[in-house]
Amino acid sequence: MSKLERLEAIFFPNKCPFCDDIIKYDEIMCKNCERKVEISLHRRREVIDCGGRLQIFSPFLYKDPIKSAIYKLKFREKRNYGRNLGAIMAMTCRRGFFKDKIDYITSVPLHKKRLNERGYNQSKLLAKSVSKEINVPYAEFLIKVKNNKIQHEIPFVMRKENVRGAYKAKRVENLKDKTILICDDVVTTGNTMAECALTLLEAGAGKVLGLSLAIVPNGNDD
Ligand SMILES: [Zn+2]
Repeated sequence: MSKLERLEAIFFPNKCPFCDDIIKYDEIMCKNCERKVEISLHRRREVIDCGGRLQIFSPFLYKDPIKSAIYKLKFREKRNYGRNLGAIMAMTCRRGFFKDKIDYITSVPLHKKRLNERGYNQSKLLAKSVSKEINVPYAEFLIKVKNNKIQHEIPFVMRKENVRGAYKAKRVENLKDKTILICDDVVTTGNTMAECALTLLEAGAGKVLGLSLAIVPNGNDD
């Protein structure tokens, strides 16, 4: 533990993202929640296939206690939980579900307006934690150019259309033939991530893989 990390641990103690109890610096969650959460990553692998363009892997279904943890990360400024929850996502990578060697990790971007409102992008926090855990560089390759409606607030059938053309690739010179792992917090229909994947592939990426913390069962949380 570095001096800075020790200082940080005093002012911002590491907490369990599920029950908010203080835990040791290098722990992901408390022992009690570990039992309840049952991260059976070696067994569970939720996958949705976005028309052959992208497979999205996820350690959890979107229900409690992970649902509340994501809510805290997104809306209650518990940005510190990004590290712990990202570490759980990284376990999915370590379990060998991804057969390809990953060159870069990136995240689903927020529109500038939304980013200013929230102050941070929760997907980026998760992606950066995954990057650190599995030792693969994090890079931003996408910007959101369309401030579209929030996906889960519109009817299911309109979601694909809603995200079309919403993203643009940047730093494309580094993308060529590379395998990119894109991270997000929750995947519902998968349309958002599939659109991001398409944007990256059109910009020259060789392959795109998806990883989310949770997947909504049957893609329907309306
Ligand atoms: Zn706990």
